Amino acid sequence: DRGLVWFRRDLRVSDQAALYHALNSCKQVWCAFVFDSDILDALPRCDRRVEFIHASLLDLDGELRALGQAHGQVPTGLIVRHASAQKAIPKLAEELRVQAVFCNHDDEPQALARDAQVRGALAHAGVMLHDFKDHTVFERSEVLTQSGTAFSVFTPYKNAWLKKIEPFFLHGYPVEKYAAALAPCPASHPPGVPTLAEIGFETTNLRALKIATGSHGARGLFEDFLDRIDRYHQARDFPAVKGPSYLSVHLRFGTLSIRQLARVAYQMHLAGQQGASTWLGELIWRDFYMQILHHHPHAVASAFKPEYDAIKWEHGKHAQTLFKAWCEGRTGYPLVDAAMAQINQTGYMHNRLRMVVASFLVKDLGIDWRWGERYFAEKLIDFDLAANNGGWQWAASTGCDAQPYFRIFNPVSQSQKFDPEGKFIRRYLPQLAKLPNAAIHAPWLAKPIDLQTADFVLERDYQAPIVDHAEARERTLARYAVVKKPA
Ligand code: FAD
Repeated sequence: DRGLVWFRRDLRVSDQAALYHALNSCKQVWCAFVFDSDILDALPRCDRRVEFIHASLLDLDGELRALGQAHGQVPTGLIVRHASAQKAIPKLAEELRVQAVFCNHDDEPQALARDAQVRGALAHAGVMLHDFKDHTVFERSEVLTQSGTAFSVFTPYKNAWLKKIEPFFLHGYPVEKYAAALAPCPASHPPGVPTLAEIGFETTNLRALKIATGSHGARGLFEDFLDRIDRYHQARDFPAVKGPSYLSVHLRFGTLSIRQLARVAYQMHLAGQQGASTWLGELIWRDFYMQILHHHPHAVASAFKPEYDAIKWEHGKHAQTLFKAWCEGRTGYPLVDAAMAQINQTGYMHNRLRMVVASFLVKDLGIDWRWGERYFAEKLIDFDLAANNGGWQWAASTGCDAQPYFRIFNPVSQSQKFDPEGKFIRRYLPQLAKLPNAAIHAPWLAKPIDLQTADFVLERDYQAPIVDHAEARERTLARYAVVKKPA
């Protein structure tokens, strides 16, 4: 009759699977979050994600209190610990004398290992760990090929996903109905969220960036997106335009329910709305990469297609120098540099640009995709192992349903096509702002008169290209030629 809900990447009250099941099956339910020192200790002290989680926990705490109050339970709220989760959860379970702990699936390899340890420690004390699907519409082996194997190509996966979907899978969990079971927080362990400083972190520019946090922020963003979802398919590829939803960080931390989003998008899709159909397709990509991670955990460290591990990437000091220039946005290719400025300054990067800079790192600079993957993992607020690994392996042509290796993005034509007026470039590279549209995508090719008029001098005001794209292209084709198809 006593249960504990362990929040992880599901920081909301509404339509939350584990919370629902706990409230529905226990008489008294406590809610907890652990700032896991096993994860946090390895991070830099200034990390937008930690601040995002922190702000979202304040929101979650408020939502739990409001829910408890509405059902006559005062004071409920979130219990927060800063410790190793492997120890903190069994300890809390013991202190609160619960018979069961409830949480939602997290299929990242490290999380699975942690959960196995927690499960073992709890079992030792006679406490059950119940876990549920919450983070995806379909997970693990729910969508399989007709012969019962996992899909590794997206389009047939998407078709099977759409064939299987029905209202049952998209229904929300009516958490509110059972909220009377929320337990008052025990006085000896005061609830409340410690400050960022108390867990050893500094504030970042998250507030200045006006990044919406918590369920409240997520709901606002989603409402805003619904006003323009009908144009999504036309607008989503242009980084200077407010085209995508910007919900990725909320999906990452579960401040919004994927079922709710997919339900709305699916209804619009059935009504023939093109923008919503395309967006639903992106949510399906998300499920797709999660099930790839589940079935092929080897792809975390090596190429999904093992024959691509034969590729020899650039290495040594020169490679380090090129990589540093890429990280710092000093490649001399304006769209690439503006995109890197975006991730460095904001922790977000537009999807088209993620593809462009990833392709540039791997196929123009010849650098191992894992270096770029790691850099994104450090910088992205929405960093998600499955999507990030999938995206990088797609761009490097080493992945499951990847871009063929001989398709190499041209960073200049991508710029002309997707930022034709250079608006995005000008936003992030003010040193190029005065150049006319004809010159901004490749200043080294500009007419001297255009440069003079803008009082622009290459090398003085902006880096010359660190590689020649045409030559790099040839090197890449030669590099990938070592890939042998398995016998
Ligand atoms: P929208 O266009 O509004 O899409 C809606 C949602 O669908 C996103 O929030 C996201 O959850 C999901 N989605 C969209 N595209 C993809 C995709 N290709 N794969 C999986 N899910 C997708 N996405 C992450 O969430 N975390 C990452 O760490 C990440 N790393 C990436 C790395 C590379 C190299 C590439 C090419 C893509 C990566 N993506 C990642 C996918 C995609 O770029 C982002 O999800 C998207 O830009 C987030 O912006 P949005 O929420 O406005 O997207």
